[in-house]
Amino acid sequence: MHTKLLKAFQKFLKQDQILVSETDLKIYDTDATALFKNKAHGILLARSVSEIQEIIKTINEFNLKQDEGDKISFLARGAGTGLSGGAIANPQTIIISVAALNKILEIDPVNQKALIETGLINSHLTQKAKKHSLQFSPDPSSQDSCTIGGNIAENAGGIHCYKHGVSSDQVLGLEYVDEKGELCYLGELNPELKSRDIDLAKFFSGSEGTFGIVTKALVKLDPVADSFVTIEVACRNTLDASKIVSEIIKHGLKPAALEMIDSGAIEAVNRSFKMGLSEEVKAILLIEFDGHNEEVLIHAQETIELIETRFDLIFIKTTQDLKERKNLWQIRKGTVAAFGEIAPYWYLYDSVVPRSKIPQAMLGIEDIAERNNLKLASVCHAADGNLHPNFLYDPDKDPGVIDRIHKASEEVMQICIHLGGVLSGEHGIGLEKREFMPYMFTKEEMDLMFKVRKVFDPELKNNPDKIFPIRVCKEC
Ligand SMILES: Cc1cc2nc3c(=O)[nH]c(=O)nc-3n(C[C@H](O)[C@H](O)[C@H](O)COP(=O)(O)OP(=O)(O)OC[C@H]3O[C@@H](n4cnc5c(N)ncnc54)[C@H](O)[C@@H]3O)c2cc1C
Repeated sequence: MHTKLLKAFQKFLKQDQILVSETDLKIYDTDATALFKNKAHGILLARSVSEIQEIIKTINEFNLKQDEGDKISFLARGAGTGLSGGAIANPQTIIISVAALNKILEIDPVNQKALIETGLINSHLTQKAKKHSLQFSPDPSSQDSCTIGGNIAENAGGIHCYKHGVSSDQVLGLEYVDEKGELCYLGELNPELKSRDIDLAKFFSGSEGTFGIVTKALVKLDPVADSFVTIEVACRNTLDASKIVSEIIKHGLKPAALEMIDSGAIEAVNRSFKMGLSEEVKAILLIEFDGHNEEVLIHAQETIELIETRFDLIFIKTTQDLKERKNLWQIRKGTVAAFGEIAPYWYLYDSVVPRSKIPQAMLGIEDIAERNNLKLASVCHAADGNLHPNFLYDPDKDPGVIDRIHKASEEVMQICIHLGGVLSGEHGIGLEKREFMPYMFTKEEMDLMFKVRKVFDPELKNNPDKIFPIRVCKEC
């Protein structure tokens, strides 16, 4: 780190809050994306909102005496579980970790809201809210490690988001530190809010850390359902499983969750969780209804009748046992970790197609994996057309594999856009997909989005290099 800057930080941060050694830089050189790496200028572990303000003001002060190319920028990091390279810095960028700001400041059971610090781990909020029969609904598979700040930045979804909504649906108000180091308030946390104002707290959600560093959030809590039915469906191929998804949605059923895993993912969970599934099982669907008991039983019965009459299934099982339900969801949420049974690395690609196009997309993705000689394992939030093909790999055994993964990912993106899909469902654009933006947006649309970003961060100091292709960043 630049000596002057280091000395300035040492005036108000303790030594163990400043990480600058080669080992530290290496530890923070990626997020869960793994294929993308870059070392930061340094990492600062903030312990309070005022420290974040002070850090930004110190950087601004330092920048006053620097040439344009030598100026320092910054980015917020939560738990680093992001899957689009959002929390990866560059040698001119300082990572500000908000992970230690992790308190639940208030749970208001009557109005079903919680005020939290944004370094809070997602599942910790539901654990505390449970005693009021409330939950924080967005439940990414990473919910035991990712932060709510990261969820808001990426507008994260999760297994039950088809019915209960994504992170931005839960955000009522935000406190954030802007590029000058000043505190700003949006939504219900803005004391001057008028009911006719645009909902800027929601607008801010999904900006991938480019608008400011969120320090507090007022979020909505939802009542925990009275009753659940979870249905496990074992299919002979992904095509049947994909068609079942379309049938369920077409029929007007609204499950809380509708997840699909393919044969590669089944191989991993079968080994890791010793599930004892037969080799015939090539795709599994997990379907869940929640609500009042009578209602969920009716919907489950309708679903079973709809599926059983039209498809040649290996088995279909239902359960209302809460322990069995927990096991099933643990297996689903542990699927990515189970990939370690097959290969040491995985690259997860986040893509979306209209639900009616899932069968074509799944067939297309299988073909792309085969042509590029890649091991495929898919986990899908199928109800909202959000497909996550994973390519499992070992670069030591297969030196050319990373190039083939990049090529295959571009092909997956093209096929999804061709089928009417979009670039990302829930993991954001980050570094990973910024060069794909022109496949989806015109120059005018990207310029407009870039102008909006500049309203919040005129000097582009917050999480630079993200979302926009390099061309747009340079031209604007
Ligand atoms: C095994 C696994 C399963 C996953 N499953 C899901 C899933 O089901 N659904 C889903 O949506 N995602 C999923 N993810 C992706 C990831 O967990 C989410 O994107 C999560 O929201 C990232 O949170 P984080 O705290 O790790 O953020 P980080 O990775 O630290 O940061 C992500 C982005 O958010 C910004 N950011 C972080 N904190 C703040 C803040 N306080 N203020 C402003 N910007 C901030 C960063 O600058 C960066 O751009 C999964 C990841 C893994 C590894």
